[in-house]
Amino acid sequence: MNQKSVLSHIDSIDFTDTDELIESFNLKKTRCDCFVYKLSKDGTDLCFCGLPLHLHHESVRRAFTHKAENYPVEWNYERHTTADEPTDAFGELKFEDFKRNDPKYLRVDFRTPLDQMVKIIFEVWKMHRPKLIISITGGAKNFKINAGIKNALKRAVISAALSTDAWLVTGGTNEGIMKIIGEAFKESAIRLKNRRKLILLGIANWTTIKNNHLLTRKSTKPNMYSHDEEHFKNHPLKEFLDMQKGAYLDPNHTHFILVDNAHLNNYGGELKFQAELLDLITDPKSINVNEIPMVMLLYHQHVLGSGHFFSDIRGSESAKLQLFLKSLFFKSFAKNKKGIVNFKYKLNKNSSFFNNVMPLGGFFPDNETDK
Ligand SMILES: [Zn+2]
Repeated sequence: MNQKSVLSHIDSIDFTDTDELIESFNLKKTRCDCFVYKLSKDGTDLCFCGLPLHLHHESVRRAFTHKAENYPVEWNYERHTTADEPTDAFGELKFEDFKRNDPKYLRVDFRTPLDQMVKIIFEVWKMHRPKLIISITGGAKNFKINAGIKNALKRAVISAALSTDAWLVTGGTNEGIMKIIGEAFKESAIRLKNRRKLILLGIANWTTIKNNHLLTRKSTKPNMYSHDEEHFKNHPLKEFLDMQKGAYLDPNHTHFILVDNAHLNNYGGELKFQAELLDLITDPKSINVNEIPMVMLLYHQHVLGSGHFFSDIRGSESAKLQLFLKSLFFKSFAKNKKGIVNFKYKLNKNSSFFNNVMPLGGFFPDNETDK
């Protein structure tokens, strides 16, 4: 990739309005481009994308001639969607009942060129260049965590972020480990008087965000987002949405990138988008600055309330960083009197996401043992 194309300043544009600046990027949302029959719900035929024919684009409706049951194609968002309509969800967000934080957000097609995203991150959102990126995953659904491990995690991650000038990156929703990181972020932001601008970036799937209709642009700014289920009854797609599948945005994140795949009630595209975006940001060849190391923290849950953290560190300083994080986690976990730190956990060999994994530490309440 051409270095200059990634981070050249937008000299020709002199917008003071961030929203206008984002509009100038001509970003798109995603729509289904091929009706493939999946099932009939209350007499309405639904496509694999989750929508009935009449809610598809005119070109799809015109092209649809096959008898539904005999349609031979297997629907796939990578092949059967297109992005030809401008994105309609971006700007600043206010969370009902949360006064402190006004996160920036943007809905984009999963094929959006990453060099455009990098420009938006650094030049429109003006996020500071990190010295380290800590990406945290694991434990979203059916998440159970002991209060001890929760506090230890908060201490460890926030200390790591503050002492290394790092960005924290999560899946952005108000559940599981993402919610805990959000809480830790809020608590530390309140505690620290002369804090640097902390960044907590959430990269989530668009279609599974609950109340995402509140994120589409209104004439009044900023948009007001809410966790109140009452709003669901006004969702234009409520008949086709499964509320069990979605999650709300976490109010403590500072930025959200919402990756659209036009597949209702289904994740997809956001993990790849995140991995490739972070690769680009941390790659010294693409941004023409020093290498930015990346730490991926994975929380693996064992039994109720107990779990273990793993890290995968990329970059030339990875050994030093690993040691640093290990001591930080050790200190954080050791503060909890009920917990023990166990560095002997054997890694599940099937884990392909992490290729250079080291266990960081774990927590096991008195009455539970490692399995
Ligand atoms: Zn469809």
